[in-house]
Amino acid sequence: MMRLAIIGVGLIGGSLALALRRAKVVDRVVGLGRSAGNMATALDMGVVDHVASDLAEAIGEADVVFLAVPVGQIGGVMERIAPHLPERAILTDAGSTKQDVVGMARTHLGQAFARFVPGHPIAGAELSGVGAAKADLFRGRQVVLTPLAETDPDAVATVRALWEACGARVSEMTPTAHDAAFAAVSHLPHLLAFALVNMLASRPDAETLLSFAGGGFRDFTRIAASSPEMWRDICMANRQALLAEMKGYRSELQFLIDALEKSDAASLLRAFERASRTRNDWAARGRPRSDE
Ligand code: NAD
Repeated sequence: MMRLAIIGVGLIGGSLALALRRAKVVDRVVGLGRSAGNMATALDMGVVDHVASDLAEAIGEADVVFLAVPVGQIGGVMERIAPHLPERAILTDAGSTKQDVVGMARTHLGQAFARFVPGHPIAGAELSGVGAAKADLFRGRQVVLTPLAETDPDAVATVRALWEACGARVSEMTPTAHDAAFAAVSHLPHLLAFALVNMLASRPDAETLLSFAGGGFRDFTRIAASSPEMWRDICMANRQALLAEMKGYRSELQFLIDALEKSDAASLLRAFERASRTRNDWAARGRPRSDE
């Protein structure tokens, strides 16, 4: 049984606490958050046993410290916890980008850097806050760890075991490969959803248009309801990889514009057939549904 500290008790931090409690892997959870209302909900839901009043108190007795704040907050939190981290405590995170988080850990953690295991659960939702937390959020989903050469293998094994106890499948990759892959399959789709909704919202007839929107619009834009703060931070942290993906997407759009301008039905059909086949094959392989 371990003692867990969660910094940022929202959808992801709250779900991890619930899952580890249910798996009987942790017997005490101390949380720290930014909003008093959210932390009161965390206590009511039994996500945390205790709400700490500062970072030093939150991590003082922890075996494992889980950072589940937006990535733009992680550096500041690391800087403030570094002097208080218990000597044997393992630190890990849920941040959706990994190169920036690893860079911040190198800057702020000193000796404790070897006990920091960067992680990213590929599970989530467009919902935020602990009220949306679920014990089975990670069941059957992937978690990517991006340990470095200096990372203590025992710390990696512990974090892997924690995620596996939540029912997740754990894989490892480098932070660079992680950020490139998720720019393509997660960050780009979120930006496209935000852009489409904004394009429609800025039209004078937006209300009328939205009243006609159906299942296609709902499916394409569900993730535009995601936390603006979280996505601002992800986009800023992964700017370069994301820009490359957006330029690739722009070429694909240009191809479709050209085909329409030339009334090139054959090119349109070929493009749609390839996309439809790829999407159907992907779904048939039983990839877990995830928002990230
Ligand atoms: P969330 O908004 O539900 O929870 C984040 C919590 O952190 C909030 O309760 C907020 O009040 C708190 N917080 C913010 N700054 C803080 C600070 N300085 N100190 C203490 N608490 C602070 O967000 P979430 O969806 O749980 O995301 C958390 C992390 O997990 C992010 O880094 C995100 O990139 C990552 N992530 C999210 C998803 C997803 O789909 N939502 C999936 C995988 C990873």
